[in-house]
Amino acid sequence: MTDKKPELSAAMKSKVEPKVFKKNPINGTKFTIAISSAKGGVGKSTFATNLALALKKIGCKVGLLDADIYGPSIPKMFGIDEKPKSDGQKLEPIMKYDIQCMSIGFLADQQTPMIWRGPMVTSAIKTFTQKVNWKDLDFIIVDMPPGTGDTQLTFSQEIKMDGAIIVSTPQEVALLDVKRGIKMFDKLGVQILGLIDNMSSFTGEDGKKYAIFGEGGVKRTAEEFNKEFLGEIPIDPEVGKFGDQGKPIVESNPENKISQIYLDLANKIKSNYFKN
Ligand code: ADP
Repeated sequence: MTDKKPELSAAMKSKVEPKVFKKNPINGTKFTIAISSAKGGVGKSTFATNLALALKKIGCKVGLLDADIYGPSIPKMFGIDEKPKSDGQKLEPIMKYDIQCMSIGFLADQQTPMIWRGPMVTSAIKTFTQKVNWKDLDFIIVDMPPGTGDTQLTFSQEIKMDGAIIVSTPQEVALLDVKRGIKMFDKLGVQILGLIDNMSSFTGEDGKKYAIFGEGGVKRTAEEFNKEFLGEIPIDPEVGKFGDQGKPIVESNPENKISQIYLDLANKIKSNYFKN
């Protein structure tokens, strides 16, 4: 046995020439915003659906693209149980709450796992961005899968993305993934609009605030990477309840404090892109 590390082959050592991709905007839409989380279970789909609804409520025309091929959530969270129509060339998005929606979950049975390799995922993403009849949209909100894989790469390199919002809980284990996510978008030249601290704390009936996943971690990460901190969304059982009922909180209860946070954020995003 020798301690010497095996030499990399010449082919592995040789620098791969970066491939230059032509960036295509999504048909029929002005601005594409990705909602990313790096880690699963932090509330990314909840955020994507509610932000889409908030943008609609302030007068924008909105599309919602579920790019989470292995774990689509939009059919459940928007209560959609129908198949999109196709003219043989293009798929028609499904209209719900005045939002144009598309998800792999509309095409496959809800309980059928998508046992697909990367190239098939990439091909599905291309279909959803180029072969869906998105019509006259101001914003398309893309619910990304967790992680830093094929879908993120396809969107960043081949699709014109106008910005990404990173959602996280303040827990260290989630923040580690967030840091990887930030570095990925920076490397791929995608503008990060900011970081959101979801499930930041819970206020009990005793009026006390409990920092269940720790405190301030997302804000600190934003500062560390020189990104904007977009704010905190506390834990509210109503959020989960309405999500499960297929009518997210911004649509079910616009007066709720959390809905107001989404509406403020939607106004901020709108004024960022549509300067009057
Ligand atoms: P992800 O898309 O990151 O996997 P989800 O959006 O599916 O995460 O959310 C994970 C769970 O957390 C869901 O049960 C959702 O209802 C719940 N959830 C998300 N945000 C909140 C919140 N602010 N308050 C309470 N529950 C929340």
